[in-house]
Amino acid sequence: MEIQYVLINFLLLVGILFLFARKTIIKIFRGRRERINTQLDEAELIENSAAPVLEEPVFEPIPFEESAELLQEKAEAEAKIEQIRSFGLRECSEIHRGMIESVRKQYYQVLKDEVRELFSKEPYLTLLRDKEMQMVDDILGMIKLTPGDMNYLRMHNVLYVTLTSAHPLEYDIIKKVDQATKDLLATVNGKTSLWIREDPELIGGLRLRIGDTVYDATVAEELYQLEKRVSREPITTDETARELLREFGDITNSFEPKVHTYQLGRVMQLSDGICWMDGIADTMYGEVVEFECGESGMVLDIQPDRIGCVVFGSYENIESGSRVRRVGRIASVPVGDSLLGRVVDAIGKPIDGEGHLYVREKRPIECHAPSILDRAPVSEPLHTGIKAIDALVPIGKGQRELIIGDRQTGKTAIAIDAIINQKGKNTVCIYVAIGQKESTIAEIKERLQKHGAMEYTTIVAATASGSAATQYVAPFSGTAMAEYFMYSGRDVLIIYDDLSKHAVAYRELSLLLHRPSGREAYPGDIFYLHSRLLERSAHLSDEFGGGSITALPIIETLAGDISAYIPTNVISITDGQIFLESDLFHEGQRPAINVGLSVSRVGGAAQTKLMKQMAASLRTKLAQYRELADFTQLGSDIDETTKKALDSGARLMEALKQNRYQPLEDWQQALLLFAVSEGFADGIALAQMDEFEKGLYAFFTGECAQLTEQLKTGKKADSELLSAVREALGEYVKRV
Ligand code: ATP
Ligand code: MG
Repeated sequence: MEIQYVLINFLLLVGILFLFARKTIIKIFRGRRERINTQLDEAELIENSAAPVLEEPVFEPIPFEESAELLQEKAEAEAKIEQIRSFGLRECSEIHRGMIESVRKQYYQVLKDEVRELFSKEPYLTLLRDKEMQMVDDILGMIKLTPGDMNYLRMHNVLYVTLTSAHPLEYDIIKKVDQATKDLLATVNGKTSLWIREDPELIGGLRLRIGDTVYDATVAEELYQLEKRVSREPITTDETARELLREFGDITNSFEPKVHTYQLGRVMQLSDGICWMDGIADTMYGEVVEFECGESGMVLDIQPDRIGCVVFGSYENIESGSRVRRVGRIASVPVGDSLLGRVVDAIGKPIDGEGHLYVREKRPIECHAPSILDRAPVSEPLHTGIKAIDALVPIGKGQRELIIGDRQTGKTAIAIDAIINQKGKNTVCIYVAIGQKESTIAEIKERLQKHGAMEYTTIVAATASGSAATQYVAPFSGTAMAEYFMYSGRDVLIIYDDLSKHAVAYRELSLLLHRPSGREAYPGDIFYLHSRLLERSAHLSDEFGGGSITALPIIETLAGDISAYIPTNVISITDGQIFLESDLFHEGQRPAINVGLSVSRVGGAAQTKLMKQMAASLRTKLAQYRELADFTQLGSDIDETTKKALDSGARLMEALKQNRYQPLEDWQQALLLFAVSEGFADGIALAQMDEFEKGLYAFFTGECAQLTEQLKTGKKADSELLSAVREALGEYVKRV
C-alpha cells in the first residue's frame, strides 16, 4: 500500500514540476534548435558564396546552324573575303612586275586584318575555342626541358611558366597545364610558377612559355609563319595569288592549330651595334636572332649569364627589355642566279632599288672549306686581260692572289678590269666592297654596266656608313654566294675590296665584345678569320663538279710597308701577291706593278704554253733593267751596251703600260711582249709604242689570219710557230 502512495506522490510531483517547468524546457530546446539552424544557415550562406569560386565556368558552344543571325553574319564575312580576293587577283595580274612588291604587301595586310576581324566574331570565335583542348594536348605532348632551362633551374630552382591566350581560358585547361608542367619539373626536383595572361594580339589559340621556350599554337603565329613564307615568293601571277589565298582560307575556314616552337630572350644592353641579351640560353654561335622591331642580329659571344650579338641594320629602334626571338638557323644569305646583276647588302638584301629579290635557296655565311681530297690542283688560267699580270704573275682558277699597295695606286682598277675581262668566259664575278664610299660603289656599278659586265656580277656592299657588323659579315656573305656557283660546277672570281678595312671592323667588334686584344690591338684570331675566309676559295676536283672560286683579296698598306701585321698575315695565307708601288704609279707606270716583289706561286702551271714560251725571259730582263737603271741613275757616262740594255728595258716597261678598261686577249699580250723582248721594237720611240702596239694587233688579225688563229688556241708554241711569228714580225716592222 505504501509503495502505491509513494508512486502516486512521485507522479503528482513530476506532474506539478512538468506543469511549471514545461515552458522553460521548451524554451531551452527551441533556443538550441534555433542556434543550430542559424549556424546551419550561416554555413550554407558561406558555402553558397564560395561556390562560384570552385564551380567551373559553364561554357556553352553556340550551335551556329540554329541562329539565323549568326548565319547572316558568316555570309557577310565570306562575301567580304570574296571581295578582297577579287581585288587582289585583278590588281596582281594587271600591275607591272616591278610594282608587284607593294601590291603584295598591301594585299597581305588586307587579308591579315580580315582574318583578325573574323576571328573576333562568332561563329569563328566558337570554332576556335572548341579546339583549345586539342591545342593544349598537342602542346603538352611536346614540352620538355632544354639545357638552358636546367641551367636556370640550378641557379633559381624555379621555372616560370606563362600561359597566354586571346580570351579567358577554361578552368580545365589551366588545371591541366599546371599539372603537366609541375610533373615535368618534378622529374628534376624543380618548381614551377604558373602565370595566366590574356593578349588579344594573339587573335586566337594558346601560347605556353616554359623558361625561354615558347610553344605557340596561335593564329598570330600562323600568320607570322605565312608572311615569312610569302616574302620568299613573288605574287606575280594569278596562280601564285590563288595559292596564297588558299593558305589564308585554310587559316580562316579550318584552323588546324600547329604548334611552333621557338625561344625568346630579352635585350639587356645595347651599345655601338652590340647587343647583350638575357635568355635564349640554348642559342648557337653564329645564329640569327630577330628583334621585335624587325631588325636581325648574329650571335657572336656566348657567356654563362649573357649572350652578345651584333646588330645588322639600324639599332636605334631596339629598346632595352624588348623581346628577341631565336630564328633557329645559322646566319645565311640568299644565293642563286637571280643575284647576278644586283647590288645587295651584307645580308643579301637588295639595295639597288630594283625591287624585291626572290630566292628559294640560302647558304650559311660560315661554311667549311673544301677538304684536300675535294680539291684539284690549279690548272686553268684566269685571264685578267692585263699584260703585266697575265705574263708575269699569272693567276689560275682556284688561286688566291693578293693585290697589295698604298692608297690610290690602282688596286681597285685591277680588280674591275679583271671582272670586265670575264665577259663571255662563263665566269661569275662577285665584288665585295668593305667600308667604301657609297659613291664609289655606284661608280663601279655604272662602269661594270657600261662594259656589259654587270649581268654576270653581284656587288655585295657594306659601305663605310654601315655598322662594323655588316662590314665584318660582307666577305663571308660574298663567299657563300660564290660557293653556290662553285658547287654547281661553275667558275667564280671574287674580289674582297679590301681586307684591311675588314680587319679594322673585326677589331672594333672584338673590342666592343670585351675580347682581349693582341698585336696592334687586333684580336688574337684575326689570322684565323682571314685564313678561314680565303681557304674557301678552291678548285674542286671533277668528281665534285670541277667548279672554282678564284679570290683577289685587296690589302692597303701604309707607306709601302708590307711587313705590317695584317699584310704579312694575308701574304702568308694567299698563293702570291701583286705589289703596287706609289712611286711607279706617279712615274706614270700604270698599272704600277712592282715586278720584283710580285709573285704568283701556283699560277705558272695554269699559263698557256704560248704565253709561257713567249714571256719566258721577261721577268729576268725586267729585273736586270731595274737594277741597271738604279745603278746608272747618277752616272752620266754610259757605254753603248749599257745604253742599249737600258733602252730595251725602258721599252719593255712601256709595253707593260695599259689603260683601264682595255683588257687584251692572251695571244695579243704574248705577241707584244715577245716582239718587244726579241728587239723588234728597238727602233721605235717610247712615245710611239702605243701606236706600234695597236698596229701590231691589226696587222696580225688582218694579214696573218691563219697564224693568228694558231696563236689564239695558245696550245702550241714550238720553234716552227715561233719562227713563223718572227717572220711576220719582221714584215710588220718593215712597214712601220
Ligand atoms: P684606294 O686606296 O682609294 O682604294 P686604289 O688603290 O683602289 O685606291 P684606284 O681607285 O683603283 O686605286 O685608282 C686610283 C686612280 O688611279 C683612279 O683615278 C684611277 O682612274 C687611276 N688608275 C688606276 N689604274 C689606272 C691605269 N691603268 N691607267 C690610268 N689610270 C689608272
Ligand atoms: Mg680601291
